Amino acid sequence: MSGLDETIADLVAANRILASQGVVDGFGHVSVRHPENPKRYLLSRARPPECIEAADIMEFTLEGEALDARGRRPYNERFIHGALYEARPELNAVVHSHSPSVIPFGVAGEHLRPLLHMAAPIGASVPIWEPRKSFGDTDMLVSDMAQGRDLARAVGPGTAALMRGHGSVVAGKFLREAVYIAVYLEVNAHLQMDALRFGKPVNYLSAGEIEKILARQAKGKASEGFDRAWEGWCNRAGIAYLRR
Ligand SMILES: [Zn+2]
Repeated sequence: MSGLDETIADLVAANRILASQGVVDGFGHVSVRHPENPKRYLLSRARPPECIEAADIMEFTLEGEALDARGRRPYNERFIHGALYEARPELNAVVHSHSPSVIPFGVAGEHLRPLLHMAAPIGASVPIWEPRKSFGDTDMLVSDMAQGRDLARAVGPGTAALMRGHGSVVAGKFLREAVYIAVYLEVNAHLQMDALRFGKPVNYLSAGEIEKILARQAKGKASEGFDRAWEGWCNRAGIAYLRR
């Protein structure tokens, strides 16, 4: 398998995992930066993630132009991906989803914050992208690069942003990391709503705890965690685990 074939196989697995974990349904998508050309990225044609196969994966410029469409229709919201790769050269994978538990935190004035150690990579408080601020009333989709770049500015130097009334975007240096963050963003949101129901102050991870967890990940030990999670999720999704 070439490097590109391996990347495509992992991207197919990422789609199946995110569907199996309930992060995406018929909508939502995951991309990876092209392993040989940083000015390109790989993303499926418009298809439900749980159905995606290697032949569905298309190549795009950062501006969202398909290089090898061959009659395949791209996702309307592909600009989310290119805008983040353009703004953040160190990022190599992006997940966009409408996972349900995060939605209340984009609309009700309660910030999404990590209370579970696995959710430390979402950052101390997840920013919210408000499309109305720059674009007035829209159909809520990210339909061009101007909107994609505005969303990327909301992500800033972090790994995630909520999209008000719509969903979220998550980015990572590696595909397995981005999938991990997307899964635990949803898990944390669900747990935070449960914790808030007690009506008492919630004891979130401190800035120091987040920093120590991320420092451990930066030393490389975290990839073991990402890989372990990935192997289990592959099994759950009924697909082969490819050791990297
Ligand atoms: Zn969307």
